[in-house]
Amino acid sequence: MQTITLHDKQFKPFISEQEINDVVTKMAAQVAEDLGDEVPVFIGILNGSFMLVSDFVKKYPKPCEVTFIKLASYEGVKSTEDIQRLIGLTQDLTGRTVVILEDIIDTGNTLHEVHRIFKNENVKQLLIATLFYKPEAYKKDFKLHYVGLEIPNKFIVGYGLDYDGLGRDLPAVYQLKTTQHMTNLV
Ligand code: 5GP
Repeated sequence: MQTITLHDKQFKPFISEQEINDVVTKMAAQVAEDLGDEVPVFIGILNGSFMLVSDFVKKYPKPCEVTFIKLASYEGVKSTEDIQRLIGLTQDLTGRTVVILEDIIDTGNTLHEVHRIFKNENVKQLLIATLFYKPEAYKKDFKLHYVGLEIPNKFIVGYGLDYDGLGRDLPAVYQLKTTQHMTNLV
C-alpha cells in the first residue's frame, strides 16, 4: 500500500484489505452466533456503509434481510438544528430484530438520529454494529453492540468512506497525513 493523493490531501496506508476482511468476518460470525434462529434485518446507512454491508452479508452464515436507508438534512433548516429525515425505509419492521450497519461512528450524531427515527418503528430490538469507532470523538451514551475496530480521532478514507467524493471505492483504508509541527521546548 502506498500513500495516495485525493484532491489536495495526502493519505497514508492505515488498515489493509486483509485486516478489514478479517474484522468483518469476525463481526458477522459474532452477530450470527448471538442472534441464534432470529432472522435479522440488516440496515446499512448510505452512502458510507455500502461496501461493509456487501461484504458483511456475504459472510453472514444464516438467512437475513438487507436494506439501506439514507439520512438527509431537511432543506431550509438551519444547519445548527441538524434535524434529519429518513429516505428509503418502506418495510414494516414491527417485531423484527434490526441491526444497523454503520461504516464509522464518530461523534454519534448520526446514531442519535437513527435512534430517534427507529423509536416509532416497534422493532423487537435495535442493535448497532459499526466497522470503525472513534472513542475519543464519541459524545453519546447509546450502546454500540458490535465494534470492528477502535481507531484514533483522525480522518480516514476508503472502504466506503470518502474525502469530498473521492476514495469510497478503495478496498483498504487510508489516514489523512498531518504535518508534524516541531515544538521548541527551550
Ligand atoms: P457521526 O455522526 O458519528 O459524527 O459521524 C458519522 C458519519 O460521519 C459517518 O457516517 C461518516 O459519513 C462521517 N465520518 C466520520 N468520521 C469520518 C472519517 O474519519 N472519514 C470519513 N470519510 N467520514 C467520516
